[in-house]
Amino acid sequence: MIKVTVWNEYFHERNEAPVAAVYPNGIHGCIAAFLGADAEFCVRTATLDDPECGLTEETLCDTDVLLWWGHCAHDKVPDEVAERVCRHVQCGMGFIALHSAHFSKPFRRLMGTTCSLCWREGDRERVWNIAPSHPIMQGVDACFELEQEEMYGERFDIPAPDETVMLGWFAGGEVFRSGCCWTRGLGRVFYFQPGHEYYPTYYHPSVQRILANAVRWAAPQYRVETIECPRTESVEELRRKKKEALA
Ligand code: ZN
Repeated sequence: MIKVTVWNEYFHERNEAPVAAVYPNGIHGCIAAFLGADAEFCVRTATLDDPECGLTEETLCDTDVLLWWGHCAHDKVPDEVAERVCRHVQCGMGFIALHSAHFSKPFRRLMGTTCSLCWREGDRERVWNIAPSHPIMQGVDACFELEQEEMYGERFDIPAPDETVMLGWFAGGEVFRSGCCWTRGLGRVFYFQPGHEYYPTYYHPSVQRILANAVRWAAPQYRVETIECPRTESVEELRRKKKEALA
């Protein structure tokens, strides 16, 4: 089983009726529902209002992949929680930043750049699968359309991705690196652009397929409890001492 935590700031759905109409159980509820239908995943959710944002040391130790949706409350996430998330990623936990999480504290810290982009609400997006052999894009059509999505355009101020698996084209003419992969320390990071709160993006079958694939891809291959910077003895010296002791 892959242990998944879906985090959401959970503000828009509780304060804006049109958003609540699209996501009555919150964006996290929608994502947890479709991921939870996969027998391979054990899914929990966490939100900003939970103690320590629902991201305690214990929860993160018990999380293989963390998905993150945030928009207007990035600053309300304590630095301590953001640092904790980054440390777990560096130790091997997978991290998937969704849509406006490009400006979330953990994502910006993991990238080391501003992660800015240009945007405009309400456009049609055609998403291109440019890496059909990549684990995240397997089984996804060559392209699919989102009738309504927020336009996110280049330049996206990110470090060059290890792999770019999706390109987004918008009816207004802009393009965007819509699916990007990195490793940070031992952990895998995926940025996924679609998912504006006003539109039913997370109900789209291709979106659900990509996110389920991304969870499998980001699950730790190898994980440690901590990464230290130890002074070590020479291996040759230790061998020599052992030989001497045996002689
Ligand atoms: Zn948005």
